[in-house]
Amino acid sequence: MGNVGAKEVPTLLTPEGLRIDGRRLDELRALKVTAGPLHEADGSAFVEWGANKVMAAVYGPREVHPRHLQENNKAIVQCRYNMAAFSVDERKRPGLDRRSQEISKVIAEAFESVIFAEEYPRTSIDVYIEVLQANAGTRCAGIVAASVALADAGIPMVDLLPAVAVGKIAGRIVLDLKKEEDNFGEADLPMALVPQSGRLVLLQMEGHLNRAELSEALDLGVKGCRQIYDVMKQALRDRYAVRPEGHTGGAA
Ligand code: UDP
Repeated sequence: MGNVGAKEVPTLLTPEGLRIDGRRLDELRALKVTAGPLHEADGSAFVEWGANKVMAAVYGPREVHPRHLQENNKAIVQCRYNMAAFSVDERKRPGLDRRSQEISKVIAEAFESVIFAEEYPRTSIDVYIEVLQANAGTRCAGIVAASVALADAGIPMVDLLPAVAVGKIAGRIVLDLKKEEDNFGEADLPMALVPQSGRLVLLQMEGHLNRAELSEALDLGVKGCRQIYDVMKQALRDRYAVRPEGHTGGAA
């Protein structure tokens, strides 16, 4: 631990180049995706990713509320990202603050670009993301959960959307920041990838990177997304795998 003024700044990289939780620079936190845990929603998924716990539920295509948002030639995609008051160590004020509104908007836009919305005119596809426990990277965990929930709901999409945050800590580019790395690092860059085309449909950045670092970060993020994609596909396979006796995997 080093001291900067009164604030304790943790040492983010050991002399051996390992991170505070022992990970290598290009290593993801443990990721577990469960498809279909909620039975009332049309589709759902639960993501446990490091210390993050995020539930997503999808309803639709269904009637649009409020009505005036209805579009005659396509479905609208509405998203609500919410952090539970108990999801962080200091109690968060409940409700939709500016951060949640911004995250809801960028996630809705990411999904609008992969959902075949024109197949369901005058309807709404509603995506709810509830962060139950937060440890950085929750918007990415939310996208992973929502994406599997959308697939679970049978919504036609170009592809699943794996997402991850890359960043810079102690001068090095690293994959999948945890809380201390997000707080004390030099940059945080969440992204979401369409794996088949390699197109990024969400890319945000906080902090500073030079051109070479940005390029390294994007490459690392794309590699991470491809690993996450495999976990997402496996979750859906597990849910819909036909058991020997003929029952489907996750059905109630
Ligand atoms: N965080 C918090 N209180 C808040 C917002 C965020 O404690 O009101 C924490 C939480 O652990 C979150 C992290 O800060 O995951 C990073 O937040 P950021 O806005 O970068 O979004 P995220 O990385 O979760 O997508």
